[in-house]
Amino acid sequence: MITKFIKRILRRDPMVKHSQTHDSSAPKRIQKKSHRIDPHLLSKNAVKVTHTLQQAGYEAFIVGGAVRDLVLGIEPKDFDVATNATPEQVQRLFRKARLIGRRFQIVHVTFFGKGHPEIIEVSTFRALLDNAGDHVAESGRILRDNVWGSQGEDAARRDFTINAMYYDPSTETVLDYHGGMADMQKKTLRMIGDPAKRYREDPIRMLRAIRFAAKTGFALDPNTRSPIAKLGTLLHDVPSARLFDEILKLLMSGYSWAAIQGLRDAGLHHGLLPLLDHILDSGADSKGANDFVKLALANTDQRIQSGKSVSAGFLFATLLWPDLLKNWKANIAKGMSNIPALHDAMDDTIATQSEGMTIQRRFESDMREIWSMQPRFEKRVGRYPYRLIESPRFRAGYDFMLLRCATGEQHPALGEWWTSFIAADPDGQDALMLSAKNETGNPAGSPAKRRRRRKPKSAAPSEGAPS
Ligand code: ATP
Ligand code: MG
Repeated sequence: MITKFIKRILRRDPMVKHSQTHDSSAPKRIQKKSHRIDPHLLSKNAVKVTHTLQQAGYEAFIVGGAVRDLVLGIEPKDFDVATNATPEQVQRLFRKARLIGRRFQIVHVTFFGKGHPEIIEVSTFRALLDNAGDHVAESGRILRDNVWGSQGEDAARRDFTINAMYYDPSTETVLDYHGGMADMQKKTLRMIGDPAKRYREDPIRMLRAIRFAAKTGFALDPNTRSPIAKLGTLLHDVPSARLFDEILKLLMSGYSWAAIQGLRDAGLHHGLLPLLDHILDSGADSKGANDFVKLALANTDQRIQSGKSVSAGFLFATLLWPDLLKNWKANIAKGMSNIPALHDAMDDTIATQSEGMTIQRRFESDMREIWSMQPRFEKRVGRYPYRLIESPRFRAGYDFMLLRCATGEQHPALGEWWTSFIAADPDGQDALMLSAKNETGNPAGSPAKRRRRRKPKSAAPSEGAPS
């Protein structure tokens, strides 16, 4: 008995530290025949983590979005584990484990397999705090020693009932504290607790509500939906970087068009992306922009749903393109020449966007490259096409140009020409350049015999201007 107690102290058993307040009532225990989780959809590494923790005497569960997706029969894109072991205790059990975060520490356990390394995020059950909310912590209070809680408290801190279920792979049981499974069956997204209070604590939850509704096709429970209309403006106080991350998740969810419609229906789109303001408020003159963005988002959704990668720079380049095009044309109308007009328009567009939500620098430079490549697609003589193909972001610029062709902003023949050019051998490429020259009557550059011998010649100055 005494040795057991000493062992527990030495292990710094979480029981000693955990707060005992605010515990929720007992969870429903849902067995396999009801939840029907397919074990093949589980990450072996996530199971390894729960198993190792349980072997060491701790409680450990797969939790959050992964359980929601498993019940829906979708393969989760990542797995989180919740446990009553403290981060230090978790870290000691795994070889590749890193403590992350300052205010609330979690552990990243990394596994190296055949493909990409997989990170399982392990967090200790969190306590409910009075005046609950992370802002309490931001005011300087040190949370580390009293933040750990019981599983019931941890469940109550989560956002939606369907995100607050715990799955134990060893017993194949789901623990459900807030009626998540019933809401799953009713296809309802319901906030845990008082929705208005939960949105005030963390306004990002409003965007999460829209994202999950789009992803699952579930309806927002009326009480969960109704405060959003009044509280939407709280999003303006959220730090730009966090807002950006959440918007990126929304756009990369595989259901971006549905999510953007959801934002509009909830009145949440204002001030996030200026473009959303005007295309979603849909005046007649925004039809072209709407078509362009809709097609871009439909493409993105399709790629993500079929497991392909999507570049965030490309996505934001498409979302801001209608704005850029307007500014570019306005600059030309003011008498600026084509390329300076484009670069000036890029600066303007990005500056206006930054007033709402700053796009991270690395994505901004991708966007600029994709945009500045566009007039270059019209120079189809001399060395220009070869130089363009050699640019590191050519593929993105080309895909972007194809999108412009698909919406009629560019002549489809231009897209077809480039598609043939990429696939052709040097003779075929010469023939294509000759045909482009004849087609446009463009005097620039005569197609020489071979690429290596070709000298650059100037292109017609008006080429590539927005039509
Ligand atoms: P996905 O990973 O598919 O986007 P998710 O639900 O797993 O969805 P994460 O951001 O990975 O979302 O969060 C994991 C879990 O943490 C959530 O399921 C939820 O239980 C909890 N959570 C995340 N963000 C919040 C928040 N802002 N407020 C309350 N709980 C949250
Ligand atoms: Mg997740």
